[in-house]
Amino acid sequence: MMDMLTIVALLIGLGYLAHWMHVRRCRSALAESEREKALLLADIKVLRAQVDRFRLDQEVFGRLLAILPALSREFHRAPSERQIPAMLLAAAVSTLGQRQALVLMRRRRDADTAFSVTAVAPSDCPARIGTSVEVEHRDGKYRIPAVVLEALGLDGREPWTLEPMIVDDEDVGLVALASSGPTSPSMESVVRVMADLGATALRSAAVRQRFISTAQKDELTQLLNKQHTMRLFTEELRKAQRQGSRLSLFMFDIDFFKHYNDTNGHMAGDILLRLLAQLVSEHIRAEDILGRYGGEEFLLILPGASAREALLVARKIRDLVAEYGFPARDCQPRGRLTISGGVAEFPAHGTATTALLRAADAALYEAKHLGRNRVQVAARQAPDKAAVIEEEWDES
Ligand code: GH3
Ligand code: MG
Ligand code: MG
Repeated sequence: MMDMLTIVALLIGLGYLAHWMHVRRCRSALAESEREKALLLADIKVLRAQVDRFRLDQEVFGRLLAILPALSREFHRAPSERQIPAMLLAAAVSTLGQRQALVLMRRRRDADTAFSVTAVAPSDCPARIGTSVEVEHRDGKYRIPAVVLEALGLDGREPWTLEPMIVDDEDVGLVALASSGPTSPSMESVVRVMADLGATALRSAAVRQRFISTAQKDELTQLLNKQHTMRLFTEELRKAQRQGSRLSLFMFDIDFFKHYNDTNGHMAGDILLRLLAQLVSEHIRAEDILGRYGGEEFLLILPGASAREALLVARKIRDLVAEYGFPARDCQPRGRLTISGGVAEFPAHGTATTALLRAADAALYEAKHLGRNRVQVAARQAPDKAAVIEEEWDES
């Protein structure tokens, strides 16, 4: 039989045991809640980072949406494909913040890794426009090797995002941005959007350019047509008037072309027109303007040239034509194919396009009258008549 003391001691012992077990339970619950708290804090951190990223994405996409209307207007107005890379680069940098960026265009159609720098940011970067860049292309992804970036004066340590500009299934160029500064998952999407926009702009600029050039060209000879020649003549004349410089024109016409057609057929006549146009275009300066003015009549505008200089050019062309082995030239009246022409100068022979054309035409008429295969210079401007005299230096 246990005495009372033992019972009390047992009860106290049981009490301690219960208390100790309670404390243990509490401690482990506390430790559990500490762990949960730590996990919760980690989750909150991840969520915060996600919220920050969403905010950044939202800002980037907001900036992209804000510039899109103006960008598409600019692209639409771009006079040629050449302006597009710089416009594209400026848009990418303003959307994604100041960072290093490149627009590369393919150098040759057959080499899929040879590109050249066509726009670069920042503008003080030593990479020169036109520098060739050899990129890597693996598993459909482009990469610019770090050494290449560093050789261009760009940061090769940062990762770069590259997206191709695809026109008619061909990667015609690359938009490349360094990831320096705050990065966001939207970056790749924005670079892709930019590359797509660039590709669309390049395609439509090329179509527009083709359309304009077709509208400006004479189909048979591929020279400028009469309307466009006149437009450029007017522009050049205005420029000469503003700058007080000279400008000359040489109007020339094939001798006995009706005979050529009658003898060899109209098709042969067409071929001759094409050959003559090509021959003359190959022997003029880049700044000269050559157009088909009529059926077998051509107009060469020589900005900055005096009548004397234009006469030398005109004679060179006349000789070139007379010496050239055109098909069936020996069937022509004098055994060769020749041209006759008239030269007029601004301001000596007229100050308006019509007066100058009239003066050159009158000189051409005179050249025909004097026996063909000749070049005449127009008479000094007379107020009421477009008289023609043979200049003393024209001994042809
Ligand atoms: P001239 O020495 O006085 O200039 O005599 P011409 O025979 O060259 O001049 P004319 O004005 O009598 O004849 C011009 C010819 O050019 C008549 C026309 O059929 C021909 N012609 C005009 N345009 C074309 C063309 O696009 N193709 C061809 N094949 N012939 C053309
Ligand atoms: Mg003729
Ligand atoms: Mg004629």
